[in-house]
Amino acid sequence: MELIDLNRHEGIGANSHLIRLGDFNILVDSGLDPKMIGKDALPEHAAIAERSIDLIVLTHCHLDHLGSMPLVAARNPHAPIITSLPNTYLAPRMLRNSINVMKRQREELGNTDLPLFLHRDIALFDHQLYGQRFGRSEIHTKAKDQIEIILHPAGHVIGAAAVEFIYKHRRIVFSGDVLFEAQRTLPGAQLPGGKIDTLILETTRGAKARAPEITRVTEVERLINAISKILERGGSCLIPTFALGRMQEIFKIIYEARNFGQLPRCPVFAAGLGMDLCNYFDKIRKKTQLIDFDLKMLDRMRVKPLEINLRPGRDLPQKGIYLLSSGMMVQHTPSYKAAACLLPHPKNGLCFVGYNDPDTPGGQLLADPKAAHFYFDSLEYRAPMRASIQQFDLSGHANREELADYAVQSEARAVVLTHGDTAARHWFSEELSERMPGSRILDPNPGEVYQV
Ligand SMILES: [Zn+2]
Ligand SMILES: [Zn+2]
Repeated sequence: MELIDLNRHEGIGANSHLIRLGDFNILVDSGLDPKMIGKDALPEHAAIAERSIDLIVLTHCHLDHLGSMPLVAARNPHAPIITSLPNTYLAPRMLRNSINVMKRQREELGNTDLPLFLHRDIALFDHQLYGQRFGRSEIHTKAKDQIEIILHPAGHVIGAAAVEFIYKHRRIVFSGDVLFEAQRTLPGAQLPGGKIDTLILETTRGAKARAPEITRVTEVERLINAISKILERGGSCLIPTFALGRMQEIFKIIYEARNFGQLPRCPVFAAGLGMDLCNYFDKIRKKTQLIDFDLKMLDRMRVKPLEINLRPGRDLPQKGIYLLSSGMMVQHTPSYKAAACLLPHPKNGLCFVGYNDPDTPGGQLLADPKAAHFYFDSLEYRAPMRASIQQFDLSGHANREELADYAVQSEARAVVLTHGDTAARHWFSEELSERMPGSRILDPNPGEVYQV
């Protein structure tokens, strides 16, 4: 098998791999690097410009996997984009939102590359999408060659798939982004068992061990207690959340905690892309039963939109729980604007529920939660930091030990590392080299062709 990692920059980046198996050129994912803007955010598409792609596979709808797929699809109009059924609904919606963000960036930054594609490109992309059920094998042929593809549930986020290719009795598995623990809305991963030939493995959490006593269940409990304390002292609680998956999970956590009397009843406010995605989740539940999320929860909690006229420094007019995207408090988003209102008032509290990149406002706030002030750049407002700030580990990614165990039991002849920063990959490289002495552990250089 020939393999090229097309992610140009270090870290998680713009995920995309090309593999060649016999006559088949297959592209797995084509994302955008969340830390880059414009063409810098694209995968190294030049490395595959000469090749015609036969099959495209989309593991899930986070933009670091999906974000540049309309460009690849347009260049390879005959290649089906194979993905799980939920993703056939979600991918066009996520891409449409991405166009809006890119248009705003064009205005702000004067970057004329943006938007990288248009709504009509998404219509064509949509046409190429091919939904495949989890666990079902489908065979694709090219001349006399054939390949079998099976998608497996990877937890992580609704629709997330690990991809298994079977070619001449060799099993090649892309883990995609994986979470083994169940979320409130979604069961955990069920990756393919048995002996694998080549495993392409995510390494997101490789740099850090998680204490064994900390689990998703204990973190959810700690979160409920924290929200409850903030409300009891008469404050508002802001939970910045990722729109796809995490917001819906937190809705369910709050809903159930209220029903069990663990949280006092109070107004719940929500805003951002995540609210629209709730409608999609409800539809996906009805059509596929792959998620446990019912829109009726929002009616029963009487979820309200965020007030539009927010003034930095002036406390939010109504006390309650504010569930707002984005999860990393990126500028111009509802969570960023609401934080500028909440932060100066000591009764309020901020609860972060996911990973925050150090370069984002959320990451900067968490880097020094005891600082005296925080500067809200785009609002030109220096806020005194008086509200409480806490973080809860509701990550969508598996612990490094769980992933390493999976790799070891697969007895893979080769393990290819991906989706992690240098320290994370380094841990996996050391750990797997020791535990799998007969296997090749590969941390590929971007754009280089490897025979695996
Ligand atoms: Zn992801
Ligand atoms: Zn990812």
